[in-house]
Amino acid sequence: MKILITGCSGYIGSSLSNYLNKTKKLFFLDKDFPKKFTKIKKNFFKCNLNNFKKTKAIIEKIKPDVIVHLAAKSTVNEKIKKSDYFSNNIIATKNLIKVMNNLNIRNIIFSSTAAVYDKSGKLLKENHRLKPISNYGKSKLLAEKEIIGNKKINFIILRFFNVAGSINKNLIGEFHDPETHLIPVSVFRALNNDSINIFGSNYKTTDGTCIRDYVHVKDICSAIKKSIYYIKKNRSLILNIGSGSGTSNKKVISSLSKIIRKKIETIFLNKRKGDQPILVCNIDKAKKSLNWKPKFSKIDNILKDEIKWSKFLTKNKLERKYLSVQK
Ligand code: UDP
Repeated sequence: MKILITGCSGYIGSSLSNYLNKTKKLFFLDKDFPKKFTKIKKNFFKCNLNNFKKTKAIIEKIKPDVIVHLAAKSTVNEKIKKSDYFSNNIIATKNLIKVMNNLNIRNIIFSSTAAVYDKSGKLLKENHRLKPISNYGKSKLLAEKEIIGNKKINFIILRFFNVAGSINKNLIGEFHDPETHLIPVSVFRALNNDSINIFGSNYKTTDGTCIRDYVHVKDICSAIKKSIYYIKKNRSLILNIGSGSGTSNKKVISSLSKIIRKKIETIFLNKRKGDQPILVCNIDKAKKSLNWKPKFSKIDNILKDEIKWSKFLTKNKLERKYLSVQK
């Protein structure tokens, strides 16, 4: 089976490339070269999915059985231009679907997000109302619609919740420029004796800070691997992929503080635009249909793996860049 991974140079893409290494015939595509610490050495194609002609020519050469479409602009940060999300997340997906139709490629696994849902006090099920409030969530929902609207294509849409942690074997993890996600930023800053900014402290939650469902990147990779088998049965699915339990921003910091045995200075800032108060999912559907379950997604485990990764980056002089304050 030939598998093409788009977005192979990103966090999930490079983790997946290591995770599936040698078990499958893999091909890689990204608009950026893979980071030097990934294990992608061959079958790499540098291409922006916005370029339809080039994308088609490359995919025609590969003839993949399954496309794992991870290429995206993927942070909830309203400072990123709307047009960036539009071109990276919608046009790119539109082009990819058009290429698949042209070349008779049937199977796509798509990385979507928790950010497509409307807010809820309960565990989110896949049939919960869709009402994204961030540009990121809006663009992913439109991309989902592009895929679903296509009757000839089998799809598995995986709505990832908050992906974090690193893969220990052939160590690999998150390395964005800038880094904006709570876990990598907090770990890096705490290890460097820096304070941590928390956006918002008067949400209607147990401790006033936002609650998220953190899922280990290894569990994300295993869900994708299982989806690759499932999609060969010619079926389509939309699934939540999370841990099924929530952790508040404050709890992330207190757990981190315990693990590294350091006091961490926390600075409470204004709410960040586009943030839902609570995003935690019900994962029964994924468990049942894919025979998958999260095995590594306890918050302490995620933080410990993130610490290993952060130390590796520092040792290799790969300094994390983050915005000192983002609103
Ligand atoms: N967050 C924070 N400080 C940071 C980065 C993030 O307080 O430096 C908060 C953010 O406002 C949200 C939660 O952490 O409530 C998770 O945000 P992240 O960007 O990691 O993921 P998202 O849920 O937006 O996909």
